[in-house]
Amino acid sequence: MSKQAKVPFADLHAQYLSIKKEMDAAIAGVIGSSAFIRGPYVDAFEKEFAALIGAPHCVSCGNGTDSLYIAMRALGVKPGDEVIIPAHSWIATSETVTQAGGTVVFCDTDEDTFTLDPALIEARITPRTVGIIPVHLYGQAAEMGRIMDISRRHRLWVLEDCAQAHLATCNGRTVGTFGAAGSFSFYPGKNLGAMGDAGALVTADGALAERMAMLARHGGLVKNEHRIEGVNSRMDGLQAAVLSVKMKQLKAWTAMRRRLAGVYDRELSGIEGLDIPITAGGREHVYHLYVVRHARRDELKKFLAERGIETVINYPAALPFLPAYARLGARPEDFPNAYRHQSSVLSLPLFPEMTEAQQAAVIEAVRAFSFAHTGR
Ligand SMILES: *Cc1c(COP(=O)(O)O)cnc(C)c1O
Repeated sequence: MSKQAKVPFADLHAQYLSIKKEMDAAIAGVIGSSAFIRGPYVDAFEKEFAALIGAPHCVSCGNGTDSLYIAMRALGVKPGDEVIIPAHSWIATSETVTQAGGTVVFCDTDEDTFTLDPALIEARITPRTVGIIPVHLYGQAAEMGRIMDISRRHRLWVLEDCAQAHLATCNGRTVGTFGAAGSFSFYPGKNLGAMGDAGALVTADGALAERMAMLARHGGLVKNEHRIEGVNSRMDGLQAAVLSVKMKQLKAWTAMRRRLAGVYDRELSGIEGLDIPITAGGREHVYHLYVVRHARRDELKKFLAERGIETVINYPAALPFLPAYARLGARPEDFPNAYRHQSSVLSLPLFPEMTEAQQAAVIEAVRAFSFAHTGR
């Protein structure tokens, strides 16, 4: 009997062990100084993250969902305002439009890149449209050149959802720096992850940064000064310290993700029935997820699980087809790509600490599945 590899989808504990000394010291530092909410660790994180992305301002907050909400409030979304978002994303992108008081307008995604299809955006624009939220899904930038052109032509703001794409680029420019603001999540499993919830916004607009910071902190930047009504969405000192330690590794971790993706690309290309991810020209993919497509996706997932290989479906239902949006009455033909992708996408394990043996086990199992079904 061959040895059965256990391959987790991600391994946050292995990541912690690789930076344990520095991480433990940073956490002890926060506890020693009781800097639990905001404070010097959060200030330092904001400066470092702005510099990393190459944006003049960073506003931290409680999580990546709040960052989308706060940005839309700061951009002035009001009842009746329509916001265009991709049909294929995580629900945070759409639910925050509603939370901010706006109306969700879904737009289908590109066949190959899973990101907003620029060719379809203008047909979704009405006199009530105020903005577009491109999502850099799975770690690949949306087609920002064309999206920014459309936004300028129609005077719409662009809010980039960069939750899955820290350091991804489009035509040499880092995501988060194209639109009015870039929204980031530091959920533990993201490419840069905290040890709990955390999020941030970046922007080049100083006035917008100030409005976003006020909204995240009960409507004021100074204690007892509440210029507007806001929310409580603050980054805590422990998360900021954790993120500052991990941030130093992000470029190396991203390079590892890209290297592992290159191995998958080479070893999994040409397999009957399997489509590997496609990176569009001019874009640098950071592989938050390595997403393949297969017509027999559910069988493939089961086959891998039986061999101890964990996979995830991101996501089993495209946004318009979730019960939460039943009110919109979406039909498959309205969002054909998103609809087709929901039953074929499968995310394979890929994380910077993944060993050669783990990756080899995944490759061998995917090939074995194909052989079992096609004989080649
Ligand atoms: C993770 C994620 C978010 C939300 O981030 P949280 O920090 O979990 O609130 C938003 N958009 C996308 C595309 C995400 O993947």
